[in-house]
Amino acid sequence: NRNTACYRCPIACGRETRAPHYGVEKVDGPEYETLAALGSLVLVNDLEAVIYAGHLCNTNGLDTISTGCTIALACEMFERGLLTAADTGGLEIRYGDTKMIHRLIEMIARREGFGDVLAEGSSALAEQFSVPELAVTVNRLEVPMHDPRAFVGLAVTYALSPRGACHMEGDMYSVDTGQGPAFELGILPGDRFEATEERGRIAARQQAWRNLYNAMILCQFQNPGVERVLAALNSVTGWNLEPDDLMTLGKRIVTLKRMLNLRRGLSRTDDRLPDLLLRPLNNGGTEGMTPDLDVLLSAAYAEYGWNPETGKPTQDTLERLGLR
Ligand code: SF4
Repeated sequence: NRNTACYRCPIACGRETRAPHYGVEKVDGPEYETLAALGSLVLVNDLEAVIYAGHLCNTNGLDTISTGCTIALACEMFERGLLTAADTGGLEIRYGDTKMIHRLIEMIARREGFGDVLAEGSSALAEQFSVPELAVTVNRLEVPMHDPRAFVGLAVTYALSPRGACHMEGDMYSVDTGQGPAFELGILPGDRFEATEERGRIAARQQAWRNLYNAMILCQFQNPGVERVLAALNSVTGWNLEPDDLMTLGKRIVTLKRMLNLRRGLSRTDDRLPDLLLRPLNNGGTEGMTPDLDVLLSAAYAEYGWNPETGKPTQDTLERLGLR
């Protein structure tokens, strides 16, 4: 119907749309993650059906990424015979079946029948049917629609994100496509397939930068640049920070979250990617590519000042960041 925007935003990335076949004349339009998770991933190419699926998730308070990924996993398991109608209460869960996908979303929201199983997410579903290797999750959160085989810096983002694979913890696809570099902070665009120490360090710096963004409640679709962010922060706080201080603040936030997770039992071994994302595809734009996680993570630990063996922040790092 029309574009919509947050207060005074010139980008206006939102959209109000409609799905008349489903009796909906005014509804939030699906954004990228929703289009992919409730469209491509479940092999639905009917835009109104995707809009309606997103609407069902929104009205029921469900995350479209986790919901779409979990239903897609159920489709895959059903196709492979790992899940049968005997397990689902008689439901045939097939790719591309829009009615079934809409029905499953409502069943998840109400924890009704097999929806109660799906409501626990991809990891729980895969474990229940003894195929944990099919869950595309990090620390039980579904991986969003940006593949680390296409932008290897995302391997760092997902593996180190404190709440599991999260696309709000760093967007190396923006950096490597030239949309969000921050040259003053050493966040430089480069070869998206290059898994070197330098790229691992840049991915860590980008994660720290976005953590500061999030703490300042800035939109990641806007990239006003280091100078403006610094001016805004200094103006509001009365501080007199330099550009390097912004990076220190970001790393402090990431490291503080790290300490909380370590205290709650996470360890270096939880810094990982799901098996399926460490297998190369046989064709397409990422043919043959997988991120070298060891190289990238070692570099990221070094950038953050974390012990390379344990993944724990060193005492020096904690002192430098004022976290002791
Ligand atoms: S770009 Fe960001 S601030 Fe602007 S409308 Fe979209 S979400 Fe809101």
